[in-house]
Amino acid sequence: MNRYVLLLGSTGSIGQSTLSVIRDNSDKFRLVGVSANRNVKLLKKQVFEFRPDYVALTGYTEGDDIAREFAESVSGKVKRVFMGHTSHLDMIREANADILVNGISGAAGLSASVETIKSKKNLALANKETVVLAGEYIKRLVLENGVDLIPVDSEHSAIFHLLRFIGRENVDEIILTASGGAFRDLSYDDLERVTVEDALSHPTWKMGTKITIDSATMANKGLEIMEAEQLFDFDLKRIKVIVHRESMVHSFVRTHDGVLYAQISNPDMKMPINNALNYPNVNRAEYGRLKLENLSLSFERVDSEKYRMVDLAYRASEMGNAYRIVYNAANEVAVEEFVSKRIGFMDIPNVVEVTLERDWSVDSFNLKDIWAVDRESRIIAREIIDKLESRI
Ligand code: MG
Repeated sequence: MNRYVLLLGSTGSIGQSTLSVIRDNSDKFRLVGVSANRNVKLLKKQVFEFRPDYVALTGYTEGDDIAREFAESVSGKVKRVFMGHTSHLDMIREANADILVNGISGAAGLSASVETIKSKKNLALANKETVVLAGEYIKRLVLENGVDLIPVDSEHSAIFHLLRFIGRENVDEIILTASGGAFRDLSYDDLERVTVEDALSHPTWKMGTKITIDSATMANKGLEIMEAEQLFDFDLKRIKVIVHRESMVHSFVRTHDGVLYAQISNPDMKMPINNALNYPNVNRAEYGRLKLENLSLSFERVDSEKYRMVDLAYRASEMGNAYRIVYNAANEVAVEEFVSKRIGFMDIPNVVEVTLERDWSVDSFNLKDIWAVDRESRIIAREIIDKLESRI
């Protein structure tokens, strides 16, 4: 087997883990193309090591000096360099590949997922926003094009594999685990005063800024509840969340007879990535292999006052498609403003809650509507933040 792999977001955390898996399994996988946003230095290093045919640099346009220097430095090493905001989409269309790993973060990852499926490539999906924003649309597209959609998000990878080993028809509920993030031991009052620097010291997973903040507010889990609902066609009432600080149980499913089944390993994103790249095969690998001796695992209920983003996610998803988009967009805006120190940590759920209170019911639902709701709700979220600021 020699699978051709495309990788988007190669300089991010998912991207780097994907490259490790490819490096460790060079007999199985060949990297045919990579895209990155602005980290030219690391991208260049990756191109020199993996020698892909294609490379896309999305954070610069052809006129930029940095882009020109980059293109010169890799010329002769690759077949083609794509540049500009949507250049990764051109690469997806042009490259011949079996599977694409979408490690782009945020709503920006959706168009890449759509392009991947339309060009009949299997999709290993680390970008949860793809299904949060466009679940129905994406599922229809997957069916029409006969490709596989394999989740890479650790919890959803766990559930995906548990469902296929146990049989979806036997499963009664899904229980997502959550680390609780960087502030899980702080009181509600302490949370009012935490800073962006505090938030970035996450105990277990090493990730980007956005997802680290999302993990501290548990907006990440909120998005994952929606992601699970969409990916697995499970009723929201049958999707639960539990805090599990060791991050070793990646999720549970409970079968109709009441029994719990879990996927357990050391936290290592290389495991779900390896599983996705090998799907449907289960290949021998050492990633995350866990010793049971001296292991103790703990589980706690979610404190819904501290983690308001969880309840808001249930509420939003219940209200329908557009509200999921609003939840995501308002949260993205609020996190940005928290990072730039314009609002406090506990303002993040406030901004999302107030944005959700508007009427977001939409009649038709296609990509155009999705982007319209996304744009509109970002404007509203910013207005709400401006009002918050003027109050201070
Ligand atoms: Mg996750």
